[in-house]
Parts: sequence; structure tokens; C-alpha cells
Amino acid sequence: SFTIKASAQPLKNAEELISSVETFIFDCDGVIWKGDKLIDGVPETLDMLRSKGKRLVFVTNNSTKSRKQYGKKFETLGLNVNEEEIFASSFAAAAYLKSINFPKDKKVYVIGEDGILKELELAGFQYLGGPDDGGKKIELKPGFLMEHDKDVGAVVVGFDRYFNYYKIQYGTLCIRENPGCLFIATNRDAVTHLTDAQEWAGGGSMVGAIGGSTQREPLVVGKPSTFMMDYLADKFGILKSQICMVGDRLDTDILFGQNGGCKTLLVLSGVTTLPMLQNPNNSIQPDFYTNKISDFLSLKPA
Ligand code: PLP
Ligand code: CA
Repeated sequence: SFTIKASAQPLKNAEELISSVETFIFDCDGVIWKGDKLIDGVPETLDMLRSKGKRLVFVTNNSTKSRKQYGKKFETLGLNVNEEEIFASSFAAAAYLKSINFPKDKKVYVIGEDGILKELELAGFQYLGGPDDGGKKIELKPGFLMEHDKDVGAVVVGFDRYFNYYKIQYGTLCIRENPGCLFIATNRDAVTHLTDAQEWAGGGSMVGAIGGSTQREPLVVGKPSTFMMDYLADKFGILKSQICMVGDRLDTDILFGQNGGCKTLLVLSGVTTLPMLQNPNNSIQPDFYTNKISDFLSLKPA
């Protein structure tokens, strides 16, 4: 069965939306900041929501940092956010392994940057790989084979600016040859905005490479998969209908909110423009859209 979702409405009465939920989940890049620059009016908006007793949670698909490293970033930007309120896809990978009681005597092979290693370490998992793995051209002599660790029980793939063929082969060997080995993706964003000069290949490119060689579908722990939403609802004891998901991206943030049965608000301060939202080929319609979260500060229509 399918339902036709009504087109997104411009947010006119922020006060009504705010009082209809108890928790706001904010995406980070495009909502709170753009790269290293804070978006206008964010500190005041977060303060206002806290003063109204709202729970604030921050969820990012960017796996390159740990929640502790994000805590520092929030602090540097002058935002009063505790690392316990931050849920990055690096943390999600470790939280997922915990949730399935991934054995502590098994190992995780990581294709990704430092954030994932830090979170696995904190969660007490054994890991190998990471940014510095491989890196040299693989010289092929007759009969050469690459050894791999038979104790690897999960391969976690995230965004990795040091991605190389060694990592592809190592991850592929683990997934194809170690019985029951899991293939976990932090996220599969097609493109990301590393700089504002162009779009850059996102975490989905690394995940796609491993999917291509293994012919397996990854288990995605970041947005739009429901893992983080279920995790948050469970951890804080919140009803999903009492959550408003705020994001700048349709296929990750808004879908994440909709998959979770939350209210959704699209902000146009990131990658999605109004023409993109209103394009007839776009089927993902949030409940509301507005320019930026500081529009919350003008609560009611004049
Ligand atoms: N992945 C990477 C590598 C990024 O650089 C970004 C944004 O900067 C993202 C994912 C998306 O992050 P978010 O979910 O906070 O928009
Ligand atoms: Ca975003």
C-alpha cells in the first residue's frame, strides 16, 4: 500500500510546533553549522528551546569524529552542548555492536577515520585498520596472497579520506571468508560538502566499493536507518510522536524522522533548496520547512 504525503508547509507558527513536542533532534551540518562556521542565531535558538524545557539531541552522519571530539567542536563554536547529547554515526557503530552483544574476543576491521576508532575503544572492542592502514601500492608476484585476521567478526565502513585498494581487499576478505562477518556502514551519503566550493564524494562511495566486491548489503547505523531513532527513544524514554527531527537533507534527515514516525522540519540553511523540495520528482515531503532554526525566535505569525 502507499499513501500520498501532503506537500511541506512553510512554518508559520513555531510556537505551535514547539509546544507539540518534547524533544528536538537536530542534524548538525547545514542546521547548526556549515563546515566550521556557526549558522546565524543558533545559540539563542537552542537557549530558548532549553528555557522551554525541551530536550535537545544532535545527530550527525559524519563519522570522522567521536562524540567527545564533537563536544569540543560545539564548545569552540560557543555552544552549550554536552557530549552525552551528541550522537554521531561513529558512536552509532559502537552502540550497535554493543546492542547485539558483539563478542569482545572478536575484532572489528575499520575502514574510516579516527572517530570510529575512538568510539570502539571507549566501548571496549578490539579493532584494527583505520586511516593509516595499507597505503602502498600492492605489488603482485605470482602466488601472492593477502593474509587476513580470522577473528574479524565485523567490518565497519565510514567516510575515509585515506581510502585505498588495500582496505578494499582486506575488508572484502573478512566479509567473504570469515563466517558470519557483519558488514556495517556508518552512513551512505552520496555526496557531502567538505568545502562550499563543490560537492565531494561522501561515505556512500566507500560503502559502495565494499558492497561492490562482496555483493552484500550493509547494515546502516546512521540516518535514515531506524537504529539511532530506536536507540534514542529507548535511552531517553521518549515517544517518537513527541520528537521533531530538524534537518537540511531530504534523503537522510527527513526520511530518518519519517521512518521514526516523528514530526519533521526541513531547514533551507544547508544542501536542500526550495526548488529541490518542490521538484515534482521529489517524493520526500517534511511536515514543515523554514529558512533556518533561528526562525523559531519569531514564534507566531504577526
Ligand atoms: N559525512 C561527512 C564526511 C561530512 O563531512 C558531512 C558533513 O559535513 C556529513 C557526513 C553529513 O553530516 P550531517 O549529518 O551533520 O549533515
Ligand atoms: Ca546535514
